[in-house]
Amino acid sequence: MGQRVTYRRRLSYNTKSNGKKIIKTPGGKLTIQYTKKRATGPSCGDCGKSLPGIPALRPIEYSRLSKSQKTVSRAYGGSRCAGCVRERIVRAFLIEEQKIVKKVLKAQQVAEKSK
Ligand SMILES: [Zn+2]
Repeated sequence: MGQRVTYRRRLSYNTKSNGKKIIKTPGGKLTIQYTKKRATGPSCGDCGKSLPGIPALRPIEYSRLSKSQKTVSRAYGGSRCAGCVRERIVRAFLIEEQKIVKKVLKAQQVAEKSK
Protein backbone atom coordinates (compact mmCIF):
# COMPACT_ATOMS: atom_id res chain seq x y z
CA MET A 1 0.00 0.00 0.00
CA GLY A 2 0.98 3.61 -0.42
CA GLN A 3 2.59 3.00 -3.77
CA ARG A 4 3.32 6.12 -5.80
CA VAL A 5 1.53 6.56 -9.11
CA THR A 6 3.39 8.69 -11.59
CA TYR A 7 1.44 10.73 -14.11
CA ARG A 8 2.34 10.43 -17.75
CA ARG A 9 0.84 13.74 -18.76
CA ARG A 10 1.24 17.19 -17.28
CA LEU A 11 -2.41 18.21 -17.59
CA SER A 12 -3.61 18.41 -13.98
CA TYR A 13 -7.21 19.54 -14.39
CA ASN A 14 -10.11 17.12 -14.02
CA THR A 15 -11.50 17.69 -17.52
CA LYS A 16 -13.47 15.28 -19.73
CA SER A 17 -10.45 14.61 -21.91
CA ASN A 18 -8.18 13.96 -18.94
CA GLY A 19 -9.96 10.90 -17.60
CA LYS A 20 -7.72 8.27 -16.03
CA LYS A 21 -7.82 5.08 -14.08
CA ILE A 22 -5.20 3.41 -11.98
CA ILE A 23 -4.20 -0.01 -13.25
CA LYS A 24 -2.05 -2.67 -11.68
CA THR A 25 0.42 -4.08 -14.19
CA PRO A 26 1.41 -7.75 -14.31
CA GLY A 27 4.63 -6.71 -12.60
CA GLY A 28 2.66 -5.42 -9.63
CA LYS A 29 3.27 -1.73 -10.35
CA LEU A 30 0.47 0.81 -10.22
CA THR A 31 0.31 2.95 -13.34
CA ILE A 32 -2.12 5.39 -14.86
CA GLN A 33 -4.13 4.57 -17.93
CA TYR A 34 -5.76 7.53 -19.64
CA THR A 35 -9.32 6.91 -20.75
CA LYS A 36 -10.93 8.26 -23.90
CA LYS A 37 -13.93 10.54 -23.95
CA ARG A 38 -17.26 8.78 -23.86
CA ALA A 39 -18.66 8.06 -27.31
CA THR A 40 -22.28 8.66 -28.22
CA GLY A 41 -23.54 6.85 -31.30
CA PRO A 42 -25.63 8.36 -34.08
CA SER A 43 -29.29 8.99 -33.34
CA CYS A 44 -32.40 9.37 -35.48
CA GLY A 45 -32.76 12.89 -36.86
CA ASP A 46 -36.53 12.81 -36.41
CA CYS A 47 -37.25 11.15 -33.06
CA GLY A 48 -33.78 11.32 -31.47
CA LYS A 49 -33.55 7.65 -30.56
CA SER A 50 -30.12 6.07 -30.91
CA LEU A 51 -29.77 4.02 -34.10
CA PRO A 52 -29.27 0.29 -33.67
CA GLY A 53 -26.69 -1.47 -35.85
CA ILE A 54 -24.14 1.33 -35.80
CA PRO A 55 -21.37 1.33 -33.19
CA ALA A 56 -20.92 4.29 -30.85
CA LEU A 57 -17.39 5.52 -31.45
CA ARG A 58 -15.38 8.71 -31.19
CA PRO A 59 -15.51 10.73 -34.43
CA ILE A 60 -12.00 9.83 -35.61
CA GLU A 61 -12.75 6.13 -35.25
CA TYR A 62 -15.57 6.36 -37.79
CA SER A 63 -13.01 7.37 -40.40
CA ARG A 64 -11.34 3.98 -39.93
CA LEU A 65 -14.56 2.05 -40.58
CA SER A 66 -15.89 1.00 -43.95
CA LYS A 67 -19.16 2.45 -45.17
CA SER A 68 -21.11 -0.74 -44.46
CA GLN A 69 -20.19 -0.52 -40.79
CA LYS A 70 -21.50 3.03 -40.49
CA THR A 71 -24.87 2.60 -42.18
CA VAL A 72 -27.86 0.32 -42.58
CA SER A 73 -28.80 -0.80 -46.09
CA ARG A 74 -32.12 1.00 -46.27
CA ALA A 75 -33.31 4.38 -47.49
CA TYR A 76 -32.20 6.92 -44.84
CA GLY A 77 -30.16 4.10 -43.21
CA GLY A 78 -27.75 5.46 -40.62
CA SER A 79 -29.70 8.71 -40.42
CA ARG A 80 -33.32 7.90 -39.54
CA CYS A 81 -34.70 4.95 -37.59
CA ALA A 82 -36.87 2.29 -39.25
CA GLY A 83 -40.11 3.58 -37.72
CA CYS A 84 -39.53 7.12 -38.96
CA VAL A 85 -38.65 5.89 -42.47
CA ARG A 86 -41.88 3.87 -42.54
CA GLU A 87 -43.83 6.95 -41.48
CA ARG A 88 -42.19 9.02 -44.23
CA ILE A 89 -43.04 6.42 -46.86
CA VAL A 90 -46.66 6.10 -45.70
CA ARG A 91 -47.07 9.88 -45.56
CA ALA A 92 -45.64 10.34 -49.07
CA PHE A 93 -47.90 7.56 -50.37
CA LEU A 94 -51.02 9.09 -48.80
CA ILE A 95 -50.20 12.53 -50.21
CA GLU A 96 -49.80 11.03 -53.69
CA GLU A 97 -53.09 9.15 -53.31
CA GLN A 98 -54.86 12.33 -52.27
CA LYS A 99 -53.55 14.09 -55.37
CA ILE A 100 -54.96 11.33 -57.58
CA VAL A 101 -58.34 11.49 -55.81
CA LYS A 102 -58.47 15.25 -56.36
CA LYS A 103 -57.62 14.81 -60.03
CA VAL A 104 -60.36 12.18 -60.48
CA LEU A 105 -62.97 14.33 -58.73
CA LYS A 106 -62.10 17.32 -60.90
CA ALA A 107 -62.38 15.21 -64.05
CA GLN A 108 -65.82 13.94 -62.93
CA GLN A 109 -67.05 17.49 -62.31
CA VAL A 110 -65.89 18.60 -65.75
CA ALA A 111 -67.59 15.58 -67.32
CA GLU A 112 -70.89 16.35 -65.52
CA LYS A 113 -70.85 20.00 -66.57
CA SER A 114 -70.36 19.11 -70.20
CA LYS A 115 -73.39 16.78 -70.15
ZN1 LIG B 1 -36.83 7.95 -35.57
